[in-house]
This record gives sequence, C-alpha cells and structure tokens, in this order.
Amino acid sequence: MSNDLFITSSNIKSSAFYQSVKNDFVNAWKDTNKPHPTVHNIWYINQSTSYGQPRFQAYVNYEQQIRNQLGGGNVIQQLYRGVKRACNIGDSNGQLQLCNLWNCDLCHILKTSYVLRNSGGAANFGTGIYTSSHSSKSHDYAINVNNQSRYHVILLSHIVVGNTYKVYNPAPGTSSPPWGCHSLEYVPSYNGQMKHPETVVYRTDAALPSVMIVYST
Ligand SMILES: [Zn+2]
Repeated sequence: MSNDLFITSSNIKSSAFYQSVKNDFVNAWKDTNKPHPTVHNIWYINQSTSYGQPRFQAYVNYEQQIRNQLGGGNVIQQLYRGVKRACNIGDSNGQLQLCNLWNCDLCHILKTSYVLRNSGGAANFGTGIYTSSHSSKSHDYAINVNNQSRYHVILLSHIVVGNTYKVYNPAPGTSSPPWGCHSLEYVPSYNGQMKHPETVVYRTDAALPSVMIVYST
C-alpha cells in the first residue's frame, strides 16, 4: 500500500493526462459572467492509500451492483464538485499534506469520503452529494474559508449516476431518487430559477473524488 496521497506525475504539465483534464475543465466553464479560470496544478488522488482504499472499495462495490441491476452499460459520469478548504493543500509540490483543521472540508473528504449535505436545509434537492458538469457552477462552492490562497480546488469525481431522474425545478424535500433511479439531474429550463445543471446522488459510496484541480480565476 502506498502512503502517498497523490500520484504526483499527474502534475507534469506536458503530459496527455494533464492536458486532457485541463482542457475538459476549461471547456466546462460555461458561465461567461465568471472570470475565465487558469489551471495551476492537477493532482490524481491515490486510492491505494489507507485513506483511499475503504472509499474506493465501497464505490467499486456499488458501481458493480448498479451495473448488474441495469444489465451493463455505462453507469458512471465524471462531474465536478467545488469544496471548501481551510489549508493550502494542493497549491504546490511542497503542500500535499492533509491538515487537521475542523473546517477543512477538502482534507476531511480526502481522509474519508464525501458526506451528504443539505446546506442547513437550503439545498435545492435535499440532503445529497451535489456535482455539476459545469466547472463554473462548482466554482460557487470552491471557497477558501480563511481566504488563505489565491487558488481554488474543485474535485473531478466519478459519480455512479445509474438511471438518472430528470427534474426541472428545485425539490428541497428530496431524500432519494424515485424508485428505479439512482441520481437526480437538474436540467436548466427556459424559465428555470437555476441556470446550470446539477447532478445529485444520495449515498456516499456513489461518489469518488478522483482528481484535485487547483486553479485561479
Ligand atoms: Zn486541509
């Protein structure tokens, strides 16, 4: 088992991996009202650490379960999630250590897994794990709680979407997708209150943080 939290070769800027993640991220920045992002670092999260292995195994088991249930096919999407950070993890090669700050959601996620959240009851689709295909939407949640860095962090994540249930309006009382579905997908409509797509899953093993993207705007 490796003790390294990240596979640091992912941050070689000339590599095909780096270029591909960076280009996808920039192309997924759909909100032209927000300043254009500049990618600074890309860190592939090592799931074979003692932190990563339990969540990875849980994710793989759930993915297989849904694949079996649906008779194969693709049940995964790679989506973005902005996270709150209280430390400077990811800012540079020398800053790749987990912190123990109570309000560092990022390090908590890296140590364990995503947690289900409802923003104190204010979340639009109930208590779940919220992601988006638009990196610019995820930017709303990529907050430095101590204003400690000029960089922000978004986690590119593997999400077991399975059968998605499409919704066109907020549904704050949601606690799970309807029977036979595994995720909720908000589709922005012409008169919709929210302009950007969101995908919500309601169990922690349905979402695996895969790549930590560090960027500035
Ligand atoms: Zn931290």
